[in-house]
Amino acid sequence: MTAPRILAIDQGTTSTRAVMFDAQGSPLAISQLALRQVYPADGWVEHDPEEIWAATLTVCRAVIDKTGGSVGIAALGITNQRETTALWNRRTGLPLMNAIVWQDRRGAPLCAALRDAGHAGAIQNKTGLLIDSYFSATKLQWMLDNIAGARAAADKGELAFGTIDTFLLWRLTGGRVHATDATNASRTMLYDIHAGRWDDALFALFNVPKSVLPEVRDTAGDFGTTAPALFGAAIPITALVGDQQGALVGQACFEPGMVKSTYGTGCFVLVNTGARPLPSRNRLLTTIAYQLNGQTTYALEGSIFNAGTVIQWLRDNAKMIGSAAESEQLAMALDAADGTGRVCFVPAFTGLGAPHWNPDARGAILGLTRDSGIAHIVRAGLESVCYQTYDLLAALRQDGIAPPPALRVDGGMSANNWLLQFLADITGIPVERPVVSETTVLGAAFLAALGCGLFSSLDEIKNAWRMDFRAEPCMPTARRETLLKGWRDAVNCVMR
Ligand code: ADP
Repeated sequence: MTAPRILAIDQGTTSTRAVMFDAQGSPLAISQLALRQVYPADGWVEHDPEEIWAATLTVCRAVIDKTGGSVGIAALGITNQRETTALWNRRTGLPLMNAIVWQDRRGAPLCAALRDAGHAGAIQNKTGLLIDSYFSATKLQWMLDNIAGARAAADKGELAFGTIDTFLLWRLTGGRVHATDATNASRTMLYDIHAGRWDDALFALFNVPKSVLPEVRDTAGDFGTTAPALFGAAIPITALVGDQQGALVGQACFEPGMVKSTYGTGCFVLVNTGARPLPSRNRLLTTIAYQLNGQTTYALEGSIFNAGTVIQWLRDNAKMIGSAAESEQLAMALDAADGTGRVCFVPAFTGLGAPHWNPDARGAILGLTRDSGIAHIVRAGLESVCYQTYDLLAALRQDGIAPPPALRVDGGMSANNWLLQFLADITGIPVERPVVSETTVLGAAFLAALGCGLFSSLDEIKNAWRMDFRAEPCMPTARRETLLKGWRDAVNCVMR
């Protein structure tokens, strides 16, 4: 008998991946395909759902073949880019247009109109979200208003809406299951996160008919099985989870107050707030962390627009480094050679996110002296990611969240040990990186193991989490205060 394996799909913004895990959460095989970005107009971003589907089949088949075939796969879990919106015909299964991606701004005028009409407070109270075209509601509204015949077809019950988890589930089950999970539902702006159901008043505000919506289920549980023709066996689909929530689970942040911080292109900080949906007074989002056995666990979420993009800018635009990893060597060498000379880099390329929320701010490099060089600017770029995390944690504190016992980090930038040490020093909080830094897809696999009964409780996920690197805060307080003041002064310089 072969040992059980778990298949996890990570359908992200820039790629589609499949990872096969063993029952202990160790990766056995990985396959990945890049995803084409479609930019039909300024501020618009689309993905072709058929390309996503074809890529999903290809990467899944690749890891199934590499690990001994489809017999013995105990479960399949899906984690996905959140909010991205698809609309398809229930009879043919064909999308009516490309999916509108979370970054797409075309719903902004609809959001502005709702804000002007005074609906922001009520929407935030129900959904935990700040009115923005980032979420699914205005993307769906735009589709219904702009695709010829769509609204009439929706009113007749002929159309199905879904975020990418739902679209893949529909296709994987051969059109038999139209469902999502609570984490994905909580990002649509149509879902009441307190009552745990779609909300009629929100449907009316966004002019969306109820008939298009999927059923909302627990994050781990029965979502049907894959159509046998796809992979040669009917694999149980037992978890759907939004990507940031997947990372929270992959980081085993199950106690209230535990925090994970993902450093990829941007940075997403999520804190588990337990059974309490904490409202934010500092423009953070209240969201669903996971829903298991009908019990909802909530999270507060804050995001930094520019994290890895700072390194990309240093490499591709400024040409100050040849590779991302070089940033670590430069910062380490400079620390060894340098006294106190400090440059400050505010990477407000696209404005500043939480908690500053200034879309008009633009980036700056300040404090240059005659001795400043490339290394100073690169080190300042790494530091900026840590200062921004400090600001997010300060906003969380103002919302009543105590400093966490540790910051569990993941994402591409978390490979940089210098960055993690500076992060610990500036935040005053120990920073921990796990052995499996692909926490998003690991979270989906763990939840699928829970959903199929291979794991019996979250404790098994907690026990499977392994630490690879830990940075303890060791910077003297006075030094930290000086650096933080330098950052605050620099931020004030770029605010418009
Ligand atoms: P995403 O999932 O958002 O595409 P990843 O989690 O793959 O991003 O992280 C990629 C980002 O991490 C890139 O912006 C890259 O510049 C940055 N990065 C990768 N390695 C390092 C490193 N050693 N030091 C600093 N940044 C790094």
